Amino acid sequence: MARRVKALPGPAKTQGFVEIVEGVHIFIGGDGGTNFGLVLTDEKPVIIDNDIRIRKAFVSGMKEITRKSPGLVLNTHHNFDHTSDNGYYHKRGAVSVGEENVRLEMEREENEGIWVKQMAGRPQKVEHLIGKLHIAPPMVTFEGEISIRYGGRLFEMVHIGHCHTKGDTVVWMPEERILFTGDLLDYRTHPVARLGNFGNWINATPKLKKFPAKFLIPGHGPIPTQPASKVWDEFRGYMTKLRSRTAAALKKHRTIAKAVTSVHMDEYRNWFRSNLVPQNATLMAKELRKKRR
Ligand SMILES: [Zn+2]
Repeated sequence: MARRVKALPGPAKTQGFVEIVEGVHIFIGGDGGTNFGLVLTDEKPVIIDNDIRIRKAFVSGMKEITRKSPGLVLNTHHNFDHTSDNGYYHKRGAVSVGEENVRLEMEREENEGIWVKQMAGRPQKVEHLIGKLHIAPPMVTFEGEISIRYGGRLFEMVHIGHCHTKGDTVVWMPEERILFTGDLLDYRTHPVARLGNFGNWINATPKLKKFPAKFLIPGHGPIPTQPASKVWDEFRGYMTKLRSRTAAALKKHRTIAKAVTSVHMDEYRNWFRSNLVPQNATLMAKELRKKRR
């Protein structure tokens, strides 16, 4: 877009644990890396998501906080960077919980032989894990929602539907008013929508906004300091702008490939993963073309 736009602020680059309320620790990925939860309870700790590539940093940080090994592992969706270390915790006695599509999507990627391979070529090497690391899907699966009372805390897992992936689930702690969003929200980080559906995602934002969250823990990016409703509006703004700009580009250009080259998201240029704009515009264009048919 030719007109000059004001860029929204970019996120901080820190990595490591922060305690947001007593006993609730968040491992911030830094540089847009995956965030994980570590919640202390009267029993063992509960972790939200995990990644074998981050095990060393996560486990050594965890050991400074608690000597107990996690008893429960909650998965927000199936992606490798949220579930690939389930097996490590299973072996140490943890029970994992995830929505039914989390299991199905992990099985699909394993059957297609891409579970580890798709992560190759990134800074964190996985080549040595190809053929050795296999999926460890959630042991307990559910459809819709499930309430888990464990160690004096309440965790509500609510399936939001197919937005970023088919199994997108939030973990809601109503007593502490903490919402773990998984990749339904990547704060100040361009969303990865390779397996996503932007139409559903836009439509899901009112439901996400209804959680009276004091803290939003995004799947990637820093913990927002703005009120939750503002954060959801900001992210919905990204998606609706992407939609209107892509729709306008499709009117001007016949092919999707040509159209996406003219879609710009300049006000988000300081967000992490700004290289994803063409990919996201392509997915949006495909959705818009399909709808017209
Ligand atoms: Zn992720």
